[in-house]
Amino acid sequence: MTKRVLLAAPRGYCAGVDRAVRIVERALEACGPPVYVRKEIVHNRHVVAELGGRGAVFVDSVDDIPEGSVCVFSAHGVSPEVRRRAARRRLRVIDATCPLVTKVHNEAKRFARAGRALVLVGHRGHEEIEGTSGEAPEVTHVISTVDEVERLPLRRDEPVAYLTQTTLSVDDTLEVVEALRARFRDIVGPRKDDICYATQNRQVAVKAIARECDVVLVVGALNSSNSNRMVEVARRQGVPAYLVPEPAALCPEWLEGAETVGVSSGASAPEVLVAGLLARLAELGYEDVHTRTVTTEDVSFSLPPRLREDRPAELTGVRPAG
Ligand code: SF4
Repeated sequence: MTKRVLLAAPRGYCAGVDRAVRIVERALEACGPPVYVRKEIVHNRHVVAELGGRGAVFVDSVDDIPEGSVCVFSAHGVSPEVRRRAARRRLRVIDATCPLVTKVHNEAKRFARAGRALVLVGHRGHEEIEGTSGEAPEVTHVISTVDEVERLPLRRDEPVAYLTQTTLSVDDTLEVVEALRARFRDIVGPRKDDICYATQNRQVAVKAIARECDVVLVVGALNSSNSNRMVEVARRQGVPAYLVPEPAALCPEWLEGAETVGVSSGASAPEVLVAGLLARLAELGYEDVHTRTVTTEDVSFSLPPRLREDRPAELTGVRPAG
């Protein structure tokens, strides 16, 4: 049996995660520790531990942050209520919300102002959904499945708008959106959905390698939405697939009889974890690694102006929120 690894590309860090991590690093340089971060800056414990070692302090609520401190909002975004609470505590806020999440917030505000009920397709309890629904909580309904469409407490002729979480399964979301369009006469939404380029590309890439693999491993945190969706995409191709939060979590039994192992990683998983997993696979005889590239990405997001390295004079100007 010839053992080999198929490595999917693109994989790993997206532009929003890369920006969020750089923001915390730059805030630590510019303002000095401690820099408080509301929630995990991105859903990856390795990243959180690494930044924690450099002086970032992760908290669940802005209420846990001493008044006047530097506070970074995570890549998943926050509701207006969180911003108000940060302002009341005079926190010096640096916003690491991914610009593609901010775009969905802006759509929510625009549709709500136009008098439409909002149907937000996503996972209840996920930070991104909490933040987006906070833009217009009184008119927002969160659903995640086709079955929930019929149960929405809205009239068929009511003006409705739909939005989607950025990290959903492309195929599942299409079904939910079709069901919404079938139920409501006056419904508008983004051109297709709000699923971001990185989520889509990682799902396409994992689907492509899964067809040639006996098992697929996705490096990603248990609470990472996009990583979980990648596992589901691979399983839908009829291939056993597992989420691997760190290299040590790999179970050799998963590989029993497997000739070709597929490897990819979610948008919040650093490449060092992929390298660690490949090293473990090599120990188990999977040394032959081939990369399958389905597309290339050249997206990058700039840092907030006050943190840009070309503007050192403004580094200390992180002002109280509000
Ligand atoms: S997964 Fe998409 S929306 Fe989320 S941080 Fe990355 S680029 Fe932004």
